[in-house]
Amino acid sequence: MEFKDLKLDARIQSAILGAGFTKPTEIQSRAIPIVLAGSDLMASAQTGTGKTAAFVLPALNRLLKASKKSGNGPRALVLTPTRELALQINQHVRQLSRGSKISSGSIVGGMAYHPQLKMLRGRLDFLVATPGRLLDHMEQRKVDFSRIEILVLDEADRMLDMGFIDAVTEIAAAMPKDRQTLLFSATLEGPVLKVANQLLKSPKRLSLAANNQRHQLIQQVMYHADSKAHKQKLLEFHLKSGRIFKSLIFTATKRGAEQMARALQVKEIKSAALHGDMSQNKRRQMVENLRKGRIETLVATDVAARGLDIKDISHVINFDLPTVAEDYIHRIGRTGRASATGYAISLVGPADWNKLSQIEKLIGEKVKREIVDGLEPTSGEPRKTPKARARPVARAKSRLKTAKTAQTKKTKKSKMSANDASGAAPYKPGSWRKSKPATKRTKSRATKPTRKAA
Ligand code: ADP
Ligand code: MG
Repeated sequence: MEFKDLKLDARIQSAILGAGFTKPTEIQSRAIPIVLAGSDLMASAQTGTGKTAAFVLPALNRLLKASKKSGNGPRALVLTPTRELALQINQHVRQLSRGSKISSGSIVGGMAYHPQLKMLRGRLDFLVATPGRLLDHMEQRKVDFSRIEILVLDEADRMLDMGFIDAVTEIAAAMPKDRQTLLFSATLEGPVLKVANQLLKSPKRLSLAANNQRHQLIQQVMYHADSKAHKQKLLEFHLKSGRIFKSLIFTATKRGAEQMARALQVKEIKSAALHGDMSQNKRRQMVENLRKGRIETLVATDVAARGLDIKDISHVINFDLPTVAEDYIHRIGRTGRASATGYAISLVGPADWNKLSQIEKLIGEKVKREIVDGLEPTSGEPRKTPKARARPVARAKSRLKTAKTAQTKKTKKSKMSANDASGAAPYKPGSWRKSKPATKRTKSRATKPTRKAA
């Protein structure tokens, strides 16, 4: 796709040329048409992929048409977590609105009030702000939001992490209800999703593949579970197998993480919870405990675990699969760091199958199915679509069979190495390749091996 295919105003097209952009990035070519069509949008994409222009360009395009409302207040507002980001975005707006006669400015904390007040009194089309200072001005009744047409929450997850949630919702509440709202975030899960549900109207959703190379160092397997209780048993089996050195377990909710950490402690597995309701200090402390080996496992929600860099996490366990497929890649990226091989285990319950197929689509491969003897699921995998009947299913099945036989053959040949690879010997960082021949304990497991399904 070319920029000219995006149907932006000629003035904006020439500003794009002036900025030296030759082709839209993926997020731009996918987001811009949605925003131009007037839909709300929630989107995630890796950093550095051009998200700013993805919202600035269509917003500017909208501002080129005259406002239906009189007054001086801003028509577009971007909220962003930090002062640096706000200034950076404002520069981007300036650059892309060259020749468009659109006035823009920024309002951030740590700066003098007077110039900001002066700016708010004059005509202002495009405003970029941090929530705290903007709220300040709002409370002094210095801001007129009556003309707002488009609200952008940039780095929404970070704004939430930084405690701006109340400010953001208060600001949004002061705006016309018929506005268009866009949300950009590294993740579209957890608290961000809640905010999106609150502030966006039937949004379109874009989540673009994150770092696709990373997961190649990571061995990914999944176990089919009939229920939550079954998942719990599978989890305990793995944690007690002696194969796991340090692990990070992901749950969908904060409460889930708390409960799980407690349940594991009862089973004498040294564990702790890590989630966004804990103070930053407490979070740091728990991460340190895992780093130093004072605990074996951390049960976390996505928000708290982001950016976590502990070199020797041997296993990531998805107790609940993430709602957004892209988060799967972020999660498993917590293991296999610094070129050590990592393992990612997903427990797939009845509610997880759709998520799994999204994940497989994103990573472009099937996650290997495994079964633990004595903990087999009672049901088969659900069919992909309830509509697919008769022949397609039969065909799918036969394909599955061939895959299965191929897999069994392969497994037979490489059973020992497969066992090594799943860390039969207790894991030591970076040492699995050199791991010694099976000990007595693993031998007995080798005679009763973990069965591989298709
Ligand atoms: P993100 O918000 O996704 O982290 P930015 O919007 O800050 O990324 O963009 C990252 C860099 O890429 C910026 O320097 C920006 O000027 C540049 N950029 C954005 N879009 C394009 C494009 N279509 N072609 C070339 N460079 C681009
Ligand atoms: Mg950005």
